[in-house]
Amino acid sequence: MELLAQFGTDRQREKYLEPLLDGRIRSAFAMTEPDVASSDATNIATSIVRDGDEYVVNGRKWFITGAMNPGCAVFIVMGKTDPSAPSHRRQSMILVPRDTPGLTVRRGMTVFGYDDADHGGHAEMIFEDVRVPADHLIGEEGGGFAIAQARLGPGRIHHCMRLIGIAERAVEMMCRRALDRTAFGKPIAQQGVVQDWIAESRVRIEQLRLLVLKTAWLMDTVGNRGAHTEIQAIKIATPATVEWILDKAIQTHGAGGLSQDFPLAAMWAGARSLRFADGPDEVHKRSLAYRELRTYMEDRA
Ligand SMILES: Cc1cc2nc3c(=O)[nH]c(=O)nc-3n(C[C@H](O)[C@H](O)[C@H](O)COP(=O)(O)OP(=O)(O)OC[C@H]3O[C@@H](n4cnc5c(N)ncnc54)[C@H](O)[C@@H]3O)c2cc1C
Repeated sequence: MELLAQFGTDRQREKYLEPLLDGRIRSAFAMTEPDVASSDATNIATSIVRDGDEYVVNGRKWFITGAMNPGCAVFIVMGKTDPSAPSHRRQSMILVPRDTPGLTVRRGMTVFGYDDADHGGHAEMIFEDVRVPADHLIGEEGGGFAIAQARLGPGRIHHCMRLIGIAERAVEMMCRRALDRTAFGKPIAQQGVVQDWIAESRVRIEQLRLLVLKTAWLMDTVGNRGAHTEIQAIKIATPATVEWILDKAIQTHGAGGLSQDFPLAAMWAGARSLRFADGPDEVHKRSLAYRELRTYMEDRA
């Protein structure tokens, strides 16, 4: 929705953004491909070829969140319009309605065995000579990479805010369980190691919360570009830290913590998967480090 609001034409907004905002339809963002290392967006190989008044899309995608939901009526698909252009000008984004002939939603991918059906699952999709009108292109040909960069700021902060909520729930569950269960003659809550997990969790949540708040404030005041370092910092720090907190909450629950009787295992799987979704940790660190180094490289020039 944010992408269409920012880059869509009036017609695209009327046809897709308005029903999305009304909750009448849903959408998904289709970039990742099984056949190439998709953490590097310049690798994306799905072809988008102009043919008269249409574009023809061919390729295979996977892990497309929300696509298994039948209410997901439109996909924003990233692909190559000009393989010979400079690497950051090869890709474009195009709107593909779900009912377009040649488009198959093949299967849902599991994540640690979970199908994530509550938010629509992560689909593998095949595009075979899928034809869409030329006015379905978003922005200009070759603009896909820049749009992908702009899109990811808001998406990332949403993930981090939800993860902080998950961490709060985990600490609450850890405290209640530690007070309820007795081992070796005293409540587990009286073990120093468990108190250390609880205290560390609180310290880490407050650190994350402040960094996420600072990032939100920067996005509002200087925009996504000005907040780039902080957006990457929260995307690196939040899933890893919340994964650590969930691990301790699971440990406090004993075997039950791994099971279907508590939500902790599913919460852990969600936090762990966010170290890939919207870009792996290593790629964010690479780009953050480069921006940090650039200042000193300029000094030496
Ligand atoms: C739950 C979930 C939901 C997702 N939802 C979507 C979605 O809705 N739409 C979509 O398009 N995609 C989605 N993805 C896919 C996700 O964006 C990709 O998995 C991610 O970008 C990495 O691409 P890849 O899996 O091809 O890994 P690859 O590109 O093959 O990378 C593999 C590993 O190589 C390492 N690596 C790569 N580059 C570097 C580097 N520069 N330095 C050091 N190490 C490096 C990293 O450890 C990385 O994890 C989702 C993934 C998950 C798990």
